[in-house]
Amino acid sequence: ETADKKKRIYEINAEAGRYFYRCLAGEGGKVAYAYLKERGISNATIKKFGLGFAPEGWTGLLQYLTQKGYKEHDIYEAGLAKARDNGTYYDAFYDGRVMFPIINVQGNIIGFGGRIITENSNTGKYLNTPETLVFKKKENLFGLNFAKNDNSGKLLLMEGYMDVISLHQAGIGNAVASLGTAFTPEQARLIKRYANKVVLCYDADQAGRKAAVRAGAILTDEDMKTRVLTITDGKDPDEFIKARGPEMFQILVESAKPLLTFRIDEIKKKYDLEDTEQILEFSEEAATLLADVKNPVEQELYIKRVAQESGLAPDTLAARVKVLQRKQV
Ligand code: ATP
Ligand code: MN
Ligand code: MN
Ligand code: MN
Repeated sequence: ETADKKKRIYEINAEAGRYFYRCLAGEGGKVAYAYLKERGISNATIKKFGLGFAPEGWTGLLQYLTQKGYKEHDIYEAGLAKARDNGTYYDAFYDGRVMFPIINVQGNIIGFGGRIITENSNTGKYLNTPETLVFKKKENLFGLNFAKNDNSGKLLLMEGYMDVISLHQAGIGNAVASLGTAFTPEQARLIKRYANKVVLCYDADQAGRKAAVRAGAILTDEDMKTRVLTITDGKDPDEFIKARGPEMFQILVESAKPLLTFRIDEIKKKYDLEDTEQILEFSEEAATLLADVKNPVEQELYIKRVAQESGLAPDTLAARVKVLQRKQV
């Protein structure tokens, strides 16, 4: 029963993907197609990712799918239609969006992300399929259907669909993105099936840096080796690679900091290490972080570094870390 329902949703999503794809190629898709061209997306990439367009209108997809024999209620259960109180339905994507099929590692379309292409919109830049029987945002990653074939043992985790698409287009095939939500332990365990190293490539803004720290903590809990890359030109990996190219991006990847170094540097930024009072606050905050480090060798190495930066004897800082560590248990 559930298996049948899932199968039907996959079918409906596949049909919808074809519909959106054709809409993008057709007369009504010109503005969306121009938008993707403007963003540097090639035809090969449109095809590879199955990008499409959901035109403005309330029933375009519903009509297409019902003509194929699908029931409105099943389209609703696939997350592609919304229900009105009077029992009628309308398209979930109705305000003109570029469509990104979200494909699981088995190769089924489980849902869609849609990006608005007009500036004057009050419906949010991105809109995703709601949670359905097959679309569990917390358990999937955009691009993993391709990135799983990369055998470097390393995945690049970024924020957005466009980041992933741009990187793959530039020949960097190990990029994935969480689906517009905070990164989850389920996603960490999914990554672990394909790689043991993760490089976090979140947006350069404060929100992105904070999100990187949170994602890093989740990956550390799953014993994944994690590094954090800092975008130096542009807001995000998509903008960076367009400005500087794939070779420069690879250099950024190579120079990504170990998570703990990144976290200590983030703490350090908040303090003036010429000021004794602030050195005290910095070393206290860093010690709190280091008290959490499970690997004693790693802990010692970082104690030495922080001690040096604070002008403390390593033993002094180590003693403080031990006290904080005892408090935790
Ligand atoms: P673009 O380059 O198209 O402007 P972006 O990926 O750089 O998009 P961000 O604002 O950095 O956009 O958002 C990162 C990701 O977060 C998006 O790709 C999308 O998955 C998700 N997201 C962003 N805004 C929303 C929103 N309003 N609702 C749901 N998800 C969103
Ligand atoms: Mn962002
Ligand atoms: Mn972007
Ligand atoms: Mn972004």
